[in-house]
Amino acid sequence: MPDNNTATDKTGSCLCGKVKIHVAKYNRDVVGCHCQQCRKQTGHMVAAFNVLDSDLTITGEDNLKWYAASDDAKRGFCDTCGSMLIWKSNGADNTSLMAGCMDSPTNLKLVGHIFTADKGDYYELDDGLPQHEGTGGII
Ligand SMILES: [Zn+2]
Ligand SMILES: [Zn+2]
Repeated sequence: MPDNNTATDKTGSCLCGKVKIHVAKYNRDVVGCHCQQCRKQTGHMVAAFNVLDSDLTITGEDNLKWYAASDDAKRGFCDTCGSMLIWKSNGADNTSLMAGCMDSPTNLKLVGHIFTADKGDYYELDDGLPQHEGTGGII
């Protein structure tokens, strides 16, 4: 099994298991988003990797509920257990998925932080990874 972005056939799910995820191949490693929308929705921050839609299979999609926090993107979560699973830019051919929903071993790695200017005031970012005040051109 190759590591990181070339890892294949990974699975994940929401907390209750009604929504299941299968990823054939990763498109981008994990980025931490500290924007206010992600903080409010998750209670802390988002840690999301990215896949091409052609490499993503979702089972139990009927259980997904969508919320558009902005005109640019929507957020998918399980309508039974509330797990945030998906962040999707409108019209994009790729999908960001929450790393915490994936089953171990994920072969994923946190590689940086975005919207650090909006981060909560109760924690520090001192892991030495690249920090971007805005999107950093990543999303
Ligand atoms: Zn669920
Ligand atoms: Zn965010």
